[in-house]
Amino acid sequence: MHPQQDPSLLSAYLDGELGPEEAGQVESHLQSCHACQQELSSLKAIQQAIQGVNNPAMPAELVAEIERHTLARQSWWRRLYQRLQKSFRGIVRAVKR
Ligand SMILES: [Zn+2]
Repeated sequence: MHPQQDPSLLSAYLDGELGPEEAGQVESHLQSCHACQQELSSLKAIQQAIQGVNNPAMPAELVAEIERHTLARQSWWRRLYQRLQKSFRGIVRAVKR
């Protein structure tokens, strides 16, 4: 059995929706399968993120702060990308000459 082939099985396991026999099978597979361990931890992260969004206790300032940082990082990345493009164009020009 390889739960990774059926992601709904891992999310059902995470939600405690599996019977003891199925849950046991998933657990023993998780101990030997790194891919499924990673799948499970990303499912956990998604679940926590969703809970965070639904949680009114999460301050709006914190959400704004995260968005600011994410946007700042994106424009930083875009600047770097544009700089790289420019220098690549310079290299191409130098090679053609
Ligand atoms: Zn697996």
